[in-house]
Amino acid sequence: MFMSKGESIGKILEKGKKLFSVEFFPPKDHAGGERMLKTAESFQPYDPDFVSITYGAGGGTRVTTMHYAKLLQEEHGFEVMPHLTCVGHTRDELLTILEDFATAGFCNIMALRGDPPRGETQFRPIEGGFSYASDLVSLIRENFPHFGIGVGGYPEKHPEASNQVTDLKNLKTKVEAGADFITTQLFFDNQAFFKFVSDCKNAGISIPILPGLLPALSLGQVKRFCSMCEARLPPELEHHLQQSQESDQPGIGADWALDQVKELLNVGCPGFHLYALNKSKSTLKILEGLGRKRS
Ligand SMILES: Cc1cc2nc3c(=O)[nH]c(=O)nc-3n(C[C@H](O)[C@H](O)[C@H](O)COP(=O)(O)OP(=O)(O)OC[C@H]3O[C@@H](n4cnc5c(N)ncnc54)[C@H](O)[C@@H]3O)c2cc1C
Repeated sequence: MFMSKGESIGKILEKGKKLFSVEFFPPKDHAGGERMLKTAESFQPYDPDFVSITYGAGGGTRVTTMHYAKLLQEEHGFEVMPHLTCVGHTRDELLTILEDFATAGFCNIMALRGDPPRGETQFRPIEGGFSYASDLVSLIRENFPHFGIGVGGYPEKHPEASNQVTDLKNLKTKVEAGADFITTQLFFDNQAFFKFVSDCKNAGISIPILPGLLPALSLGQVKRFCSMCEARLPPELEHHLQQSQESDQPGIGADWALDQVKELLNVGCPGFHLYALNKSKSTLKILEGLGRKRS
């Protein structure tokens, strides 16, 4: 059985190592789980610094997130960072889940508020629950000081925020509550990320910021994501995606993300995070393009 190295991701980032991570989501059924684990195995030769596993929208994956996080760590030897959201949980339930994460040997948590349940446009905390991710970060810091904490950041603004300045102010509150690093929402235009990093710096946010990138599979998929998170779809990428057929094979979306990563690393980003969506081909193409294979 593999154990966590017990190192906080914030500490790894402090050492200046260029970090690479991949995100999975909890599969719906056993077959999906097998596929996800196979995908994860295909990344092993590229030695990700950690993999993360999301906490399903609506908070309904408490059991599956834990199950697959443990499998990825104990059986497959990955350093795993489970996500946790405030959706549908009281403060006491969150403490119990965090206790379970600690007992299972995880030492990093991605702390999120979560999205409103399907069909609702506004997030409403449940009685005894939290309104913002910063509340969860404070809870973790106070009760589990050894946990490394990641939080979400939004280069093109969180869709609910009235403007970028307010959003950055709220991000700063989250950081001051005890976050160690920020992973960003997906973006397709590096200029948006560069501006975000500079705005964070000017706002006094100095923890590392990991860019989050999605190798797009099709125009339909990208448009769906962009409408959810309000990321800008560059016309050039849209044009290329229009020309290409939806396919399981890595295409222009992987090439685009590879170019993004190359530029981001060239200008000194602390690493990159790939939204692999439990699929391997595009992510592998990016890693191969970067020459990441362990020798
Ligand atoms: C890297 C990453 C991973 C993710 N993983 C998951 C996942 O596993 N499961 C999932 O369901 N979702 C996930 N999400 C989506 C995320 O849950 C949504 O974007 C959600 O709408 C906001 O979560 P947050 O943690 O950023 O919230 P918050 O930081 O709480 O921000 C939410 C909104 O509230 C505002 N706000 C924050 N604090 C205050 C305050 N004190 N006063 C007033 N306004 C405030 C912010 O400006 C923002 O508009 C992820 C997002 C990212 C970037």
